[in-house]
Amino acid sequence: VQQRSADGNRDGGLVRFLVPWAAAALVDSYLALGAWPRPAWWQFAGEILFLLALGRVQYRLARGWLRSSLLAAAVLCVFALAVHAPKAPHQLAPFLLGLAGGALSVVWAIERRWHPPILVGTVVALGVVIGARWLDGMVISRPQGSVAPSLVDAIAWPFRMVVAPASTSDGPPLVIISVDTLRRDAAARMASYARLAARGAAYPHAMSTSSWTLPALASLQTGRMPAEHGAGCLEDGHCQGLAPQVRALAEDLSAHGYLTSAVVSNPWIGRGTGFDRGFATLFNSGDVVNRLVVGGPPWGVHRQDDARTVDAALAWLTRAPRRGFYLWVHLFGPHMPYLHAADPIFRTLDPTTLRSTLPLSDARRREVRAAYDAEVAYTDVQVMRLLDGLERHGVLDEGVVVFTADHGEEFWEHGGVEHGHSHHGEVVDVPLILLAPGLEPGERSGVVSLVDVAPTLRVAAGLPAEGIDLRDAIPADRVAGAWGGLIQHLDCSARDAGRRVILRDCRRSPHAISSYDLARDPAEREPVRTPPADSLVEAAAGVAPPLRGAPASLPVEQLRALGYVQ
Ligand SMILES: [Zn+2]
Repeated sequence: VQQRSADGNRDGGLVRFLVPWAAAALVDSYLALGAWPRPAWWQFAGEILFLLALGRVQYRLARGWLRSSLLAAAVLCVFALAVHAPKAPHQLAPFLLGLAGGALSVVWAIERRWHPPILVGTVVALGVVIGARWLDGMVISRPQGSVAPSLVDAIAWPFRMVVAPASTSDGPPLVIISVDTLRRDAAARMASYARLAARGAAYPHAMSTSSWTLPALASLQTGRMPAEHGAGCLEDGHCQGLAPQVRALAEDLSAHGYLTSAVVSNPWIGRGTGFDRGFATLFNSGDVVNRLVVGGPPWGVHRQDDARTVDAALAWLTRAPRRGFYLWVHLFGPHMPYLHAADPIFRTLDPTTLRSTLPLSDARRREVRAAYDAEVAYTDVQVMRLLDGLERHGVLDEGVVVFTADHGEEFWEHGGVEHGHSHHGEVVDVPLILLAPGLEPGERSGVVSLVDVAPTLRVAAGLPAEGIDLRDAIPADRVAGAWGGLIQHLDCSARDAGRRVILRDCRRSPHAISSYDLARDPAEREPVRTPPADSLVEAAAGVAPPLRGAPASLPVEQLRALGYVQ
C-alpha cells in the first residue's frame, strides 16, 4: 500500500515538471518579443510545445521509464565529440541529442533521489533561457564579455520601444546591398544585377580597397582608404576595427535625422570591429540564436544563409518610414562553404581545407567553381526578393540604391584560390551599380572605388562630402588603390583605366612588382616591363597600411568555422 502511495505521489507530479518549462517558455517568449526580427506566432507556439514536451519526458524519466537513457546519452556525446566541431545539421543533430539526453538523465537522477521542490525546477529551467542570453553576450553584435548589459538590454525591451529612434529627415531612402566574395563576372550573370543595371548606372571598372572583407567594407562604410579608417589585420596577425576618430556614413546620416539599420551576415562585421557605429539597429544573422527551438541552427555558417538575412531586412523594411532611412544589407552566400551545392562535400568546405588539399585536378577545380556559381545563383534569388521588397516600398523609384561586393574570389587564375591572397582583377575588382533619381541608366567609363560610395550617399542625403560623387562624370585619369590581405600577403596595388600594378608584400624590401596592360591582357596573364619610377608604381607604393590601433574584439569560433583562424 505504501509503494502504491509513493507512485501515486509521483503520478501527481506531472505539473511539477510542466510548470518550470512553461515558465521558461513564457520568459523566453517575453524576451523574444523584444528581439528583432520578431519570431512568428507559430515559432512561439512551437517553442512552448517543445518545452512542455521536455517536461513530459522528464516526468516519464522520473517514473523510471527509459532507464538506459544515461548510457544512450553518453554514446551520443562520444559520437558528437568524434565528429568534432559540428558544422552541418547532420553533424549537429547527434550533438544536440546527446546534450538533451544527458540533461534529461541528470534531471531524472536528481528527481529520483531528492524530489526537489517545484521552485528548484523553475530556477533550472529559467537558467536555460538566461544561458541562451549569455551566449548572445559572447557574439560580435553585442559587447563581448559583458553579459549583464546584454541581459538588461533583452529584458528592458519595452523601454527600448518607447525610446526607439525615429526618422526626422525627408531625404531620399538610401540602401547599400553588398554581397561578400562576389566576382564581377559572376555578378554580371545574375538576374538581379540585370534588373538593377536596366535602371541604374553600372561601373565596369570598379575596384575594392582590399582583397578581403574587413578593410574593404570599412572603406564602403566610411569613404576612406584603409590607412585612414584603420580596419584590417597587420603582418603579425594583429586585427583591428574602425579607428575611433573616423566618422562612418551611418553616424553622419543618423546625426542628420536618418533612421539607420544594418542587416549583415559576416562575423568580421559587428560591434567588435566598430561597424555598429551610427546604426540604430544592427542585426547579424551569424549571432547565436537565442530562441531555444526556432530560427535555424544555433551555430555554424548555416545561420548566415542569405534567405534569413533577407527575411530580416524585409521585416525591418515593413516598419521603415517611406523616406529618411539608410539600410545596409550585407549577404554572405558566395563565400565558402557552399551551403547549396549539389555535392554535399562542398557544403562544409572551408578555405583552409581547400588550400591545404593536394593539387586538385582541373576537373575538381571546375567542380569547386560550379559550387561557387550555384551559391551565386542562390544569392541571386535572395537579392531578387530584397529588390521586390524595395520596389514595393518605393525605394527603387525614389531612393539611392548601391549594389556591390567587398571583393571577388580567385579560382587558380594566378595559382591561388579564395580571396585575401592576391590583388589580381578577379579578387580586387568588384561589381558596382548605382540607382538614383534622375540618373541615366547605362555603363559609366572611368575607374571608381568602394571609397566613392559613402560620399555619393552623403551628398544624396544633403550632407557635405569629400571625394567623388558617382553620379558625376568620373575623371579619365582616376587611379584607385588597394591594400592588404589575409596576413601572409599584405600586397599593395593600383589601377587606372588601362593598367594594374601589384606590389607583392609591399612593406617588405625588396618586393616583386608586376604590371599588366588591361586593354591587351584583361586576364593579367603576362606582366609587362614597367620602370620603378612609373607613376602607377608610385601610386601603388603610396597605398599605406593602417597605423596600429587597439585590437578588435572578434568572434573567434565563428571565424574558425570559416577557416580564418586555425
Ligand atoms: Zn568578404
